Amino acid sequence: MVNSTHPEAPLGLTLSHIHHSYNLPSGSRLVLDDVSLEVEPGEFIALVGPSGCGKSTLLRLVAGLEVPDAGTLLADGAPITEPDPSRIIMFQDPTLYPWRTVRGNISLGLDIRKEKDPGAIDAAIRLVGLEEFAAAWPHQLSGGMAQRVALARALINNPRLLLLDEPLGKLDSLTRLAMQAELYRLWKSQGFTALMVTHDVEEALLLATRVIIFSPRPARVIADLRIEEAQPRHRDNPAIQGLRLEILTELERGLL
Ligand code: ADP
Ligand code: MG
Repeated sequence: MVNSTHPEAPLGLTLSHIHHSYNLPSGSRLVLDDVSLEVEPGEFIALVGPSGCGKSTLLRLVAGLEVPDAGTLLADGAPITEPDPSRIIMFQDPTLYPWRTVRGNISLGLDIRKEKDPGAIDAAIRLVGLEEFAAAWPHQLSGGMAQRVALARALINNPRLLLLDEPLGKLDSLTRLAMQAELYRLWKSQGFTALMVTHDVEEALLLATRVIIFSPRPARVIADLRIEEAQPRHRDNPAIQGLRLEILTELERGLL
């Protein structure tokens, strides 16, 4: 349940030598090639890499939606074998049910588990500032509001790890800026570990404590940068702009 006074402890992750491939009619396609990553509880990790390199695949493995061909995936030292509400994934598309109100969409996880907790639903709605839209229908929402609903639907599970797959990718640039600030605020106040895929290097640098850069498919970790700048950060910060160029150069080099 969303409980801002006693948030659940953030989750740590250990990914060791992960290999994963997909079987296609034309043969096997290697997607993750020996990916190892240690994530400390409470970190905000941004994953950047060329389109199609394997970023979403990695998130699905950590969510427990798929099992890697080889390697070990641990959450606080325990093997990840199946999905769990403590490790919840949020996608670019908010995928709201059109026949449920904002409130009904946010309570989805509780309804599935047959849990009743109106207080937790109210708290989740407040957390994303949608009090006045609780009774609205999805078609009445802007893109940014729909993503807030999706965030509240994830947060009602009190996740210890929030997996974000280009969560702001479809929003217009102004809404995107507002939602970046929102994500930062929620990460600070709710105390979860965050693993976010983004193609926006600036977004990665504004939010993340660490940026991981992947090679083109099959994804290998080609850089692991700790971002020491104090948060909240501003995009005009010269250090951030310098890092942005560094990362873009690294990404370009990977494409050559
Ligand atoms: P990214 O998120 O970095 O853009 P993905 O992880 O979605 O990349 O995909 C990596 C590669 O794996 C792509 O070449 C994609 O076409 C392929 N792929 C992803 N999911 C499947 C699947 N279920 N079956 C077959 N190939 C897949
Ligand atoms: Mg993807």
